[in-house]
Amino acid sequence: MIGKIRLTGATVFTAGVMLEIADLFDVLSTAYLHFLLMAAGVLLLATTALITGKETSMLCRIGLHKYDRVGWDDELRSAAIYQCERCGNKKRVVKTA
Ligand SMILES: [Zn+2]
Repeated sequence: MIGKIRLTGATVFTAGVMLEIADLFDVLSTAYLHFLLMAAGVLLLATTALITGKETSMLCRIGLHKYDRVGWDDELRSAAIYQCERCGNKKRVVKTA
């Protein structure tokens, strides 16, 4: 059920973005329909995120994490460990310079 709402939200949001792009290129004038669709899509996604409690941020969902260095890797001295402030996602960054 939640998966369906989420899919609908993503679809509606994508449709809004597509209309927005179409509008930018003067292909189709949809007035404020695309804004409504995007808003509805975001709302649906935010609702499902609240229900499941898994997703902490829309930005994290699209891969824009807010990384902060939390330490250095034990095996590789030149590698720093970064962790996302919002969702806790970790990544290792090897410094080459
Ligand atoms: Zn994140």
